[in-house]
Amino acid sequence: MSYYEFTIRISDTFKDTLIQRLSENGCLGMIENDKSLVAYFPSALDIETIKCDLSLLKTLLEKAGHVHELTYDYTLIPEKDWNETWKKGFQPVDAGERFTILPPWEERRNDRINLVIDPGMAFGTGHHETTRSCLVLMEKYAPNTVRDSFLDLGTGTGILAIAARKLGYRHVIGIDTDHLAVDAARKNVVINQVPDVELREGSLYELQETFEVIAANLISGVLILIAPALSAHMRPGGVAILSGILDGQEDEVLEAMEQTGLRLREKYPDGKWVSLVVERGGKA
Ligand code: SAH
Repeated sequence: MSYYEFTIRISDTFKDTLIQRLSENGCLGMIENDKSLVAYFPSALDIETIKCDLSLLKTLLEKAGHVHELTYDYTLIPEKDWNETWKKGFQPVDAGERFTILPPWEERRNDRINLVIDPGMAFGTGHHETTRSCLVLMEKYAPNTVRDSFLDLGTGTGILAIAARKLGYRHVIGIDTDHLAVDAARKNVVINQVPDVELREGSLYELQETFEVIAANLISGVLILIAPALSAHMRPGGVAILSGILDGQEDEVLEAMEQTGLRLREKYPDGKWVSLVVERGGKA
């Protein structure tokens, strides 16, 4: 199979809208750089549909007074060059005090907790601020817990579940509604030699267990919707790390959490994102 590589330059404000539209149009994977977003599509897709949608978005932005906010070009990558192209996008990246996230073809670091992530087609390569914020907060809160149970809600590549196991949590579950994410996460737990991390396809509503720590790197709208279920799956004294919240939306998310009886422990901003740590009252 060969692929189309689209390099799209768009201002930060509209990046999330773009990412959503690209996904809906069959995008297989994206790499976010400082200046552009690189998106891959199978060549079997009708390229005109993708171009049409980008033009439509550009026109909408221009009509709203945002001229020159979106430019793009694209190229066809033959199958034989695909792996090399994909690999170049994934350089090792450090997160928190001790984590290094690296793809399987890079050498492991002896002095770090290595999170080896084969990106596959799932979200969670460590190149996104929200993933890194979760890792920072997980590392920070781990010493305050007995490290019994951890839930990674919306596990993507499995990165946070793997990190939790490596931080010493005994029972770790990663769950995702997307079966492709669960497949990717299954491969990653094997590569990281943490096969006891349990992975499930589904949503929070299907889980019976309660947890000491929950990490949920989703989006504000979903966090608000699931607030009651999230709270019900937290143990007394437990914490939830909530990420994927755009700066300015944190109050709405917090309000939904507070309505279920949770309390704010910490706000952690990173660029245009904010993560929240909330806790459930009571003795652990
Ligand atoms: N935990 C990873 C990936 C976050 S991306 C990281 O921090 O990098 C968010 C993931 O949540 C996606 O894989 C998506 O499929 C999944 N998801 C979205 N809504 C969900 C829901 N309601 N329940 C479970 N998973 C969900």
